[in-house]
Amino acid sequence: MHKATILVVEDDPPVRNLITITLKTHGYDYLTAGNGQSAIMQAASHRPDVVFLDLGLPDMDGVEVIKKIRTWTEMPIIVISARSGEEDKIEALDAGADDYLTKPFSVEELLARLRVSLRRMALLQQGREESPVFTNGSLVINYAAETVTLDGKELHLTPIEYKLISLLAHNEGKVLTYSFITKAIWGDATESEMASLRVFMATLRKKLESGERPQRFIQTHIGIGYRMLKAEDAGE
Ligand code: CA
Repeated sequence: MHKATILVVEDDPPVRNLITITLKTHGYDYLTAGNGQSAIMQAASHRPDVVFLDLGLPDMDGVEVIKKIRTWTEMPIIVISARSGEEDKIEALDAGADDYLTKPFSVEELLARLRVSLRRMALLQQGREESPVFTNGSLVINYAAETVTLDGKELHLTPIEYKLISLLAHNEGKVLTYSFITKAIWGDATESEMASLRVFMATLRKKLESGERPQRFIQTHIGIGYRMLKAEDAGE
């Protein structure tokens, strides 16, 4: 089986060592870069499966690294940063990062995020996005028929709710910011679209999720956005 290779971009040696030792212990290959230039060159020449990216790099901001890498590839980028502000996370996600972890992080969490990203990539490579049917546990979206069923029962969604769930499903595993979602659905991201998003997301969730498991399919990132998680990653 193909051993996944992770590019670890981190200028702080103790943190870099913690990450690489964790990866090695769990059977992953890795490459390292201590600055942004080296990160971009290694991403281009070695085509890693996933990039772990620190934002505070000595030569350039990590967000610039994301933008550069995104000019040619959709390889998953997981930001690992000490910047914990919502604005920083949103900026990194809107630049094209898939996910973020705030330092200090737990290695279990790091490995869980890595598995989500690898699965997302594997599905993309299988061309699943071309399939007219999306399945996530007991949730099935038929894009051709524009129907959504849960536990075999069809959900009666409004057109906006359908667009919302389709957008999240197309980007399964990836954190989508509020502004990304409102621009995709309404073409704008003013306070009025943000308010609409909250309303439609609440009604969608009511139809989708039982009270005991409010985050069964759609994970909320408070102040940031939403992500559809594979049922098994959400602890199904
Ligand atoms: Ca740093």
